[in-house]
Amino acid sequence: MKIKFLGAAKTVTGSKHLIELWDNTRILLDCGMFQGMGKETYAMNADEPVDPLSLNAVVLSHAHIDHSGLLPKLVKDGYEGPIYATEATTALCEIMLRDSAFIQEADVRFSNKRKGRTGKDAYEPLYTFTDVEQTISQFVVIKENETFHVAEGVKGKFIPNGHILGSAAVYLEIDEIKEHTNLLYTGDIGRYNTCLIRNPECPPQADVIICESTYGDRLHDDTLDAEQELLNAVIHTIKEKKGKLIIPAFSLGRTQEIVFALNKLDLYGLLPFVKIYVDSPLATDATAITKQFSHLLNREVKRFAESRPDAFGFGKLSYIKKKEDSQKINSSKEPCIIISASGMADAGRVKHHIYHGIEDPKNTILFVGYAEPQSLGGKLQKGEKTVTIYGDSKEVKAEIKMITSMSAHGDYMEMTKYLSCQDPEKIRAIYLVHGEEEAQKKFKEYLNNKGFKHILIPELGETIVPHINPS
Ligand SMILES: [Zn+2]
Repeated sequence: MKIKFLGAAKTVTGSKHLIELWDNTRILLDCGMFQGMGKETYAMNADEPVDPLSLNAVVLSHAHIDHSGLLPKLVKDGYEGPIYATEATTALCEIMLRDSAFIQEADVRFSNKRKGRTGKDAYEPLYTFTDVEQTISQFVVIKENETFHVAEGVKGKFIPNGHILGSAAVYLEIDEIKEHTNLLYTGDIGRYNTCLIRNPECPPQADVIICESTYGDRLHDDTLDAEQELLNAVIHTIKEKKGKLIIPAFSLGRTQEIVFALNKLDLYGLLPFVKIYVDSPLATDATAITKQFSHLLNREVKRFAESRPDAFGFGKLSYIKKKEDSQKINSSKEPCIIISASGMADAGRVKHHIYHGIEDPKNTILFVGYAEPQSLGGKLQKGEKTVTIYGDSKEVKAEIKMITSMSAHGDYMEMTKYLSCQDPEKIRAIYLVHGEEEAQKKFKEYLNNKGFKHILIPELGETIVPHINPS
């Protein structure tokens, strides 16, 4: 068996890992889009690193676009085989991929107009709605913790990993003529005792592990501290400064967590009188699917339902779908809370809210998750004083704040806890993916100290053969 790392190598987006068996069976784990990589992003996504016709199966860990976003391109380029995923991941991918196609087409129209490109010179979207519809038809729904046939000699299992609704680690039992390999791909490892999603489940012993490492060098604060920090930001911005609290948040996962946290604060009578907007059509749809799969949420949400039946809806909160209603919030001077995508502030309606609000010190931009260093969110988090948005230079006068403990990714102790049910002596290799190199190096050192050996940090495009008997 060989593994080729086609994305999320020394970076956090574009997850794509190709498992190649000696009989040429080829399985792709995730098919994610690169995001927030500056000018290179389009070219990185346009390049097809694997021959789609050579693939036997695709196994998808979860619906986030950096794991699923290039599936329609793979299908457009000729992939006709199965895409295995859990039921909630499948439902979420329908809306996520349609939204992604919409963004592609809008972005390309904008770039072509701006650069005067027409005819043969014009940029093309990576894929369209038609490709998305075809992609959805190739999904095969698999129940959690149920063994399924992936390809000849390969059995698979989805093991919930607590990251977002429907997310799971992928466990493959691979039988080849001369070797048997139990491969664990962790996907994005979630957290323990978060407000919405159930804890990660312990995966069986693996020989080879492809492990995420986003927060390999960080420890999160307690999630209860996050709610207090959120409340502090609300009081400070709305009551004291009378400004707008702009929260860039991924439509899927983070938005529902923030809405639930605000709902709890409101139930306890802690929120001031304020209008709260979830300004993202995708977030609105993702919230509806979260309600549909509420049996996958944790006990806290179920307990909350005894006081308020709708965890994601209350009087102060409105979901905004129409563009005109979003524009009205921009022009309004009234203090309010705006939760809008994307989390990295590189695209979507939140970019407009930041564009209009960044030069007013009354406002606060509150980040609640990771942003690529080159993205607008990454630049603001680094404390840059001037940023360019839609080609215009903007002075950063709004307050920039951050709550890291709301992350859907485990910190290095939580990731190590996740791996603690593995006997390090039985592991032939651990490959760290989905992390910046510095974080990966620290995580490697930490795992080494915990007794894990044979840890490698692959390069983008590198092919590695896990040794049967590593020395
Ligand atoms: Zn994710």
